[in-house]
Amino acid sequence: AGSGKFFVGGNWKCNGTKDSISKLVTDLNGAKLEDDVDVVVAPPFVYIDQVKNSLTDRVEISGQNSWVGKGGAFTGEISAEQLVDIGCKWVILGHSERRHVIGEDDEFTGKKAAYALGQNLKVIACIGEKLEERESGKTFDVCFRQLKAFADYVTSWENVVIAYEPVWAIGTGKVASPQQAQEVHAAVRDWLQKTLSAEIASATRIIYGGSVNGSNCAELAKQEDIDGFLVGGASLKIMVLLLVLQGPEFATIVNSVV
Ligand code: PEP
Repeated sequence: AGSGKFFVGGNWKCNGTKDSISKLVTDLNGAKLEDDVDVVVAPPFVYIDQVKNSLTDRVEISGQNSWVGKGGAFTGEISAEQLVDIGCKWVILGHSERRHVIGEDDEFTGKKAAYALGQNLKVIACIGEKLEERESGKTFDVCFRQLKAFADYVTSWENVVIAYEPVWAIGTGKVASPQQAQEVHAAVRDWLQKTLSAEIASATRIIYGGSVNGSNCAELAKQEDIDGFLVGGASLKIMVLLLVLQGPEFATIVNSVV
């Protein structure tokens, strides 16, 4: 990990019921979480209030998306103002599922980030290449293009965490190797330094996401430019070691801070 405060986010995606979320919250409330880590969870919108009212304040809440501007006649959308109103501190923007399943483009995503920051939401800004882009040597081009679209709209980076999430690693069980992740994180930091400033490059946390779990997090966390994780599947699971329940796998990942 680098010099910034370690950051671990749990992206619950479109999963859960009132009952399963109540159980997850109870498990998280009972887990030991290292002090020196920012811990955030992103429940589905409809359960945010439930989570906010039952989860320990030690953990901050994030939306998984927000509308690009002020709320109004946008059926099915959730505005940044509404996320703030319900107690969210963060929002995930540019997640690969928004980009590649739902079709949101770089510019739209950059505008969303600027709007959310303007409403005092902190932003987890996701970038990452698809498998064919990696295989054709375009990893850096894609990541820098997506970063530039954020930079075109974002004026202050103080409240932004960058999540490098290679699309081929998300939900596939194929985690990037610590070297693969470190290589991109270092390149992202270098891009921030050259394009924005040395201060932004050293202060901005760059977290990794893509099949992180309780068994692979420690090696990843040792890398110099990996400042934390965004965790999907494993943020919903209970860890079992030698047939013994260990508590939430997410807590193991939070506690991988080095
Ligand atoms: C994610 O969706 O942000 C993610 C990293 O998912 P998973 O951990 O399941 O690969």
